[in-house]
Amino acid sequence: MSHHHPPPPLVSEVHPGVHRIRLPFHLELNHVNSYLIRLDDAGREWMLVDAGFGNEESWTALNTAVTSLGLTWNDVREVFITHTHPDHWGLAPRVKAETGGAARVAMQSIEAANLRKLAEAVNRPSVLDKRLRSWGTPEDQLQLITRQFLGMRQRFEALAPDREFEGGEVIGTSALGPVRAVFTPGHSPGHLCLYSPEARLLISGDHLLPKITPHVAWMEERDALADYRASLDLVGDLAIDTILPGHGDPFGAPAERIVEIKRHHDARCRRIEEALESGATTPHEIVAVLWPKALSPFNYRFAIYEVMAHLKFMGRAEGLTQPLEGAAWD
Ligand SMILES: [Zn+2]
Repeated sequence: MSHHHPPPPLVSEVHPGVHRIRLPFHLELNHVNSYLIRLDDAGREWMLVDAGFGNEESWTALNTAVTSLGLTWNDVREVFITHTHPDHWGLAPRVKAETGGAARVAMQSIEAANLRKLAEAVNRPSVLDKRLRSWGTPEDQLQLITRQFLGMRQRFEALAPDREFEGGEVIGTSALGPVRAVFTPGHSPGHLCLYSPEARLLISGDHLLPKITPHVAWMEERDALADYRASLDLVGDLAIDTILPGHGDPFGAPAERIVEIKRHHDARCRRIEEALESGATTPHEIVAVLWPKALSPFNYRFAIYEVMAHLKFMGRAEGLTQPLEGAAWD
């Protein structure tokens, strides 16, 4: 790779009337995409899909992008959130405020409930440490992780959406015709994609990504990996030529990508099986076999939740979770 290629543009038109905004986001992923979709023929009404990470750098980039298109925040009438992970949701409260409260924010009802729960829990101790303890995480590592997690939670900003979708709702646009919210749980329990049958185009959030396999985390009430696989099949049945992902460049051929992602999870299940056969007795020990190099607290948390999601899918999670005396899972 050359060291001299120009930085990728902040804004690019990826379909007539659909602009990709490439917002900065440090963590491994490097950037996160928002999309602006033209709602009316005159180009005075727009929908923003996802809102970027909630920091100043990201806000400046988003604001610059909107201005560079000759728009003001008053032109943004709809804000559609694919899911409430911080890199997709973070700036939504600020966007809403900048529009004078006029933009309608929509998200899936499970994600809205999750935001309410987070807002109530900001200053309460998290159940994360109890979970990690029951999964075999050593005490010193546990301290590092829960401290980092608490710091993230305290930056949390609440906002009630104006509309709670279930999936199946239709929004009329000028650029893509009617677009439909598609309920695709797995990466997050209330994840929504946006599908345009007319343009054969899917805005996929984190459900389908071109280069990385989306993280699937263990959930207490759900088999998240089974949900995710069912959501892959659901999208696989749609007629799609173009996918606009939450991270990375637009891509096509979703069928091939879906097969690759399923193979990745099959392979991970096999490696977990092998780790168990070779003597691992806790989710923590499985993480150590799968990722022999030390993981940062941030990545460790992803790794163990991912391992737990696979164990649940394999029907092995309960047998490997140590009961904790007096631990309430509230
Ligand atoms: Zn996400």
